[in-house]
Amino acid sequence: MHDEPHHENELDEMTARVRALETILVEKGIVDPAAVDAIIETYEHKVGPRNGAAVVARAWTDPDFADHLRQDATAAIASMGFVGRQGEHMVAVFNTPEEHNLVVCTLCSCYPWPVLGLPPTWYKAPAYRSRAVREPRAVLAEFGVTLPETTRIRVWDSTAEIRYLVIPERPPGTDGMDAEALADLVTRDSMIGCGLPRHPETS
Ligand code: FE
Repeated sequence: MHDEPHHENELDEMTARVRALETILVEKGIVDPAAVDAIIETYEHKVGPRNGAAVVARAWTDPDFADHLRQDATAAIASMGFVGRQGEHMVAVFNTPEEHNLVVCTLCSCYPWPVLGLPPTWYKAPAYRSRAVREPRAVLAEFGVTLPETTRIRVWDSTAEIRYLVIPERPPGTDGMDAEALADLVTRDSMIGCGLPRHPETS
């Protein structure tokens, strides 16, 4: 069951209400649309995904935490204070040289808000939702990720019941780095599976 209503050509009731409210506030000069965009941008790229990055960096540096994450991701993530709506039932999927994980919501836009913030627009687009399942390797290539043919791609379909967080592999050349520095390497896309973490020399 998916908890966000979705229609291809019409706005769902909540979106319509939000749009109407935004229009009124802008017309009355109460809010600046650029400020609204800036706030959304902040949650989409900065605040939200930084939580997930902290989870990933801790998994890279704390084997006990990584085990906890494998066994009960919801509890492990909650132990870091990241709780809330759309994150009640989390599963962490770990990338390995043999297997790469990619997350999609084929029906709508289910996404782990407490660790990743708001989903990017492309995540909600019909093209991503269908192609991620049909041709994940081609989709990854478009994101600039080319994996060896020997690496299997596993696609996870998010639902209202389960939200996935990809734990990418720790990049090489990061041995001396602490969790805070490592978190800076973890991109939002790498936690959806359509990107890889940055390497230290490029960040
Ligand atoms: Fe969904």
